[in-house]
Amino acid sequence: MKNKGVLVVVSAPSGCGKSTVLARLMQIRKELHFSVSATTRSPRPGEAEGVHYFFVERAQFERMVREDAFLEYAEYVGNYYGTPRAAVEEQLDRGYDVYLDIEVRGAMQVKARCPDALLIFLMPPSMEALEQRLTGRGTDTPEVVQKRLQEAERECAAAGEFDYVVVNDEVDRAAAEISARIDEKRALV
Ligand code: 5GP
Repeated sequence: MKNKGVLVVVSAPSGCGKSTVLARLMQIRKELHFSVSATTRSPRPGEAEGVHYFFVERAQFERMVREDAFLEYAEYVGNYYGTPRAAVEEQLDRGYDVYLDIEVRGAMQVKARCPDALLIFLMPPSMEALEQRLTGRGTDTPEVVQKRLQEAERECAAAGEFDYVVVNDEVDRAAAEISARIDEKRALV
C-alpha cells in the first residue's frame, strides 16, 4: 500500500473553471496523471482524441460497460461519460497520483468502490458567475446551458458527500488547497 498513488476525484459544476484549476495543479504537481475519460459526446473545437477524451459511439460505450471496463460511469445531459479502469489502476500501482475530473454521480461510485480516494468538490463562487461562464463560452445551445445549470444546482446540493469543498474564488489559491489535501492524503496511504 505504501507506494500506491492517491486517487484524486474532483467534481465541479460545468463552467466552474475546473480545467483552469487543473492546469495550475498540474504545474504544481508534475507527477499527477490525468485520467482521460471515454464519452459519447461530440468533440468541442480544440478537443483532441486521447487528450481530452476518448470519443466513442454509444454502442462501443455500452460494450465497455458490459465488459466492466469502467471504474465508474454516468449519463450526463444526454451523453455517457466513464473512467477507463485499467489505466487508473496501472498508474496508482506505479505510485502516481491520478486525477479524475468527473461529475457527482460518478464520484459517488468511486467513493463506494475506492474508500481511499480523496474526494474534492470544487464550488463556484456564485451561481451568477457560473451562468456567465457557461453562456460566454458559446459552445453550447441555450437549452444545453439551462440543463447544465440545473445539473449544477443538483451537484452543489451533493457537496456534503465529498471529503472537502474548495471554493474556486481564485485559481492559484484553489489549486494550492487541492495540492495540500493531496499531500495530507499521501502521508496517510
Ligand atoms: P463536459 O461535457 O463539459 O466535458 O463534461 C460534462 C461533465 O462530465 C463534467 O462534470 C465532467 O466532470 C464530467 N465527466 C467527464 N468525464 C467523466 C467520467 O469519466 N465520468 C463521469 N462520471 N463524469 C465525467
